[in-house]
Amino acid sequence: MKNLKFLFFFSLVITFVLPVTAQKQKNNSSVRSSSTHRCGTEIVMEELFRKYPAFKKEMELSRAKKFQAQQQQLRIPFRVEAIHTIPVVVHIVLASPSTVSDAQVQSQIDVLNEDYGGTNADSSRIPAAFKPVFGKSNIRFCLARRDPKGDATNGINRVTSTVISNPGLNDPVKFTCSGGSDAWDPSKYLNIWVCQMPSGFLGYSFFASDPLSFIPLNERGFVNNYRSFGRTGTAQAPFNKGKTATHEIGHFFDLEHIWGPNNCDGTQTCADDDGINDTPLQLSCTSGAPAADSVIKDACSPNAPGIMWMNYMDYVDDIAMVMFSKQQCSAMETSLLNTTWMQGLATSDGCTPPATLNRDVRVEKFTDQTITNCGTANTTVYTCTNTYRPVVTIKNVGTDNITSLTLSAKFGTGTPVVTTWTGTIAPQSTTDITLNTMTLNAGSNNNLIVYTSNPNGSADQKVANDTGKLGAVIYPFVTTPYTEGFESTSFPPAVWKRTNPDADVTWQRTTKAAKTGVASMFMDNYNYSSNDQKDDMTSPLFSVKGKDSVFLTFQVAAATYNPPDMLNNPTDTLEILVTKDCGQTFTSVYKKWGLDLVTTGNIGVDTAYVPIASQWRRDTAFLGDYSLSTTDNIQAVIRNTTNYENNVYIDDINITYKDANANLKRNGVMVTPNPSRGLFILQYYEKPVNLDFINVYNYAGQLVWQKKISAGLSGNNLGPNYVEIDLRNVSTGLYTVQLVYRSKKAQIIKVLKVN
Ligand SMILES: [Zn+2]
Repeated sequence: MKNLKFLFFFSLVITFVLPVTAQKQKNNSSVRSSSTHRCGTEIVMEELFRKYPAFKKEMELSRAKKFQAQQQQLRIPFRVEAIHTIPVVVHIVLASPSTVSDAQVQSQIDVLNEDYGGTNADSSRIPAAFKPVFGKSNIRFCLARRDPKGDATNGINRVTSTVISNPGLNDPVKFTCSGGSDAWDPSKYLNIWVCQMPSGFLGYSFFASDPLSFIPLNERGFVNNYRSFGRTGTAQAPFNKGKTATHEIGHFFDLEHIWGPNNCDGTQTCADDDGINDTPLQLSCTSGAPAADSVIKDACSPNAPGIMWMNYMDYVDDIAMVMFSKQQCSAMETSLLNTTWMQGLATSDGCTPPATLNRDVRVEKFTDQTITNCGTANTTVYTCTNTYRPVVTIKNVGTDNITSLTLSAKFGTGTPVVTTWTGTIAPQSTTDITLNTMTLNAGSNNNLIVYTSNPNGSADQKVANDTGKLGAVIYPFVTTPYTEGFESTSFPPAVWKRTNPDADVTWQRTTKAAKTGVASMFMDNYNYSSNDQKDDMTSPLFSVKGKDSVFLTFQVAAATYNPPDMLNNPTDTLEILVTKDCGQTFTSVYKKWGLDLVTTGNIGVDTAYVPIASQWRRDTAFLGDYSLSTTDNIQAVIRNTTNYENNVYIDDINITYKDANANLKRNGVMVTPNPSRGLFILQYYEKPVNLDFINVYNYAGQLVWQKKISAGLSGNNLGPNYVEIDLRNVSTGLYTVQLVYRSKKAQIIKVLKVN
């Protein structure tokens, strides 16, 4: 027992003054591999504190408030209250999600009900000295029987995916569009994501009192390594008794680790505390499986009975953690009932099944809806032709197998296109059904409506969930030359599509800098705290049929945080890609990072970068030669891949083309300008696959310049049909350009260098 309230608030100050990182870390990913962390909760918090000082401040306040509330609650004698049963949804996100069976999920729910109710058989291991404070909470758990749409569920949501949890904000496992599974309303369901985790992690949770302004509602719940989930199946010793979830839900309901609110990294002191009065002070975490009657003393609890190492909020093996204290239970109940966003968990109807229906199918979603923004399902798909084949995911939320179904699809009030489907959808399972081809109306949003009827040849018993809607648009078309300077305040420009898969920082318009006019487009890499995220701006379609050389030119200004010459690995990267098939496949035609990309020279910029007028550069991306191609239309994609460096600005985009010179078409090869002051461009009308060398000789027959062509003409900014011949360092006069082919054929062109 301790009464250390004042000391303990003082300790909060000490605990939260973490060293301020002077240098931005180049690699700030919160995925770490190290020895086993019983739990990643504090690692995640410290990572977030480093990234967001304001979050640290808010957390200090909310933790102080939480401890105050707990202290007030703890002064009241432990009360017997109503049992509160929390509906649970288990999202199993694995390459083979069925390897975690329904029975394994149920075993975890059983563990939770035993541990939280204090009916766990292993409570016999509690040392006699701690038996008086053995807590039995009034919190219980059920697998959800009613989903957020009011339909029947078994509370288990399997998603086939190879995604691995990245502990922290924006964990991909929590979002359908990044390969995970979207949360069910966390104010009504406890979401558990069971998945692969980085090496060493068993699980992590956010705290109930974490401010919603920093940890959004749709990331609440916790992540549990599938190797430490439940007490059967994929669970592996020594974490195979389901105690990881017991521990993480402790955090979910605001419990700290038993040694206090910081990571177990050797920096703790006896002034750190968990805010709970009936757990002894403890210096550090305990690991392994001490014998049941072990008395472990440490610097903070030097006398018997020592520390409460068998507490669920310590780090011992599953077999050894067997109790919450009474006041921990009271604190968790306080958290459940007093945390505004959590209160609905206690009153949710998620445990109550809806009326049983035999035949009930539901239009879950259009499969195309997952292709763009994370967090917010897109409501419109874009196509490049006037036809569209909807693919819809159908879920059987009734109790009979569904073996046949009619699907009707129409645009607005148009005539439905009817698809008859046969197959088998088991209860609680989904299947994707491809409908017959629809013809889109050009130039307007096509409001697509799909509805199901006639499951198993009879009426659907619930029609309210039989309809799905989606907008379908044919990509806008522009003619070349085309320019975009981002001067209009609407962004993205009407004919461009922005893709922001992680729903975090993305391309935006800014008036902080512009090459011309008042605005440009920029990526706030400075404040983009995750690595390797890709954000795209896709151009409208433009025709390239028969055009010799298509270019995208643009103004760019960019900086890195650390000096660019120190950066060997790709940092913030700007890339231009071309798609000829409406986004099915892409060809990269421009890719720059570090020294190649920056316009600030060989220095780092350690504040949010805003270019000055002289820091813009015109860059060119060669989008291809379509003179002999059957391609009609292409789109260019401007892609930023963040690596937490600094900002990239783009302005004055210009899509243009150059037709080949008539002489070039006739002769197949040409050098321009001729005469020149030293820079000559050798152009080919068709790609010279057999070209081996380009040699340049002076009047005396001496070789003055040479280029070996390894695989056609490539690797220069001008593209595959061009090569630059640089004679700036030789004297003026007449030179002979000799083109040597692998077939031993040679071709000669005379050029004149002038002053
Ligand atoms: Zn923990």
